[in-house]
Amino acid sequence: MTNQKLTILQLYPRDMNIYGDWGNTLSLARRARKHGYDVDILDYNPGDEFPEDFDILVGGGGQDSGQSVIQDDLHRIAPVLRDKAETGTPMLVICGLYQLFGKDFTTVGGEVLRGIGLFDAHTVGGEQRLIGNIVLNSEEFGTIVGYENHSGLTYLGEGVQRLGTTVKGEGNNLDDDGEGARVHHVIGSYLHGSLLSKNPVISDYLIRHAVEKKFGHFVPAQIDDSLATKARETAATRPR
Ligand code: GLN
Repeated sequence: MTNQKLTILQLYPRDMNIYGDWGNTLSLARRARKHGYDVDILDYNPGDEFPEDFDILVGGGGQDSGQSVIQDDLHRIAPVLRDKAETGTPMLVICGLYQLFGKDFTTVGGEVLRGIGLFDAHTVGGEQRLIGNIVLNSEEFGTIVGYENHSGLTYLGEGVQRLGTTVKGEGNNLDDDGEGARVHHVIGSYLHGSLLSKNPVISDYLIRHAVEKKFGHFVPAQIDDSLATKARETAATRPR
């Protein structure tokens, strides 16, 4: 143990937390502990006092109605989120919060949910739900395995970095092979299921940036990833 502590903030667990998203926070905390850090997990829900002192932010998905519930509050805390993102705080936002970290989401019903524009991306509700196991290739993280379940179709602006390229599944939309988005150390993705338990390399990315920002230097522990590897292999070969 280093006696150094990381604080993980779970954004809107009450309204934005489905398909295993909470597992991302649990996996991340466990992984950070294995690397030798103490971990605190904070929950933040609409109307709470926003804790500005956190090292990693994790947010999940939700129904369109959940996104509508948190929308105003998200805009209230947006200046702090933007500042934290621009100064290098690592963040992982999945599905519904990925959409709202973009510019806007127009639902199938025609409601426009305003996003905070951290990603130059916009989303439109589709008629079809895109559901199933999904596999990506990415330069930085290698093969990424997850599970998608959304009807929103996300389009990235010119030059916005994607998380990966889909090998199986749909990802951001039905028109190109991109999945997810990245800016600063913020990752947005449609992959639930939970993403981090199957892709420890992404946990390590978030932890490394948090540790380097807070303590200056990250020395990773040697961790046995054989169970995660099995889970990845099994999920990747399952039908959609
Ligand atoms: N409501 C959004 C959609 O269907 C997000 C769904 C989700 O977070 N799983 O696209």
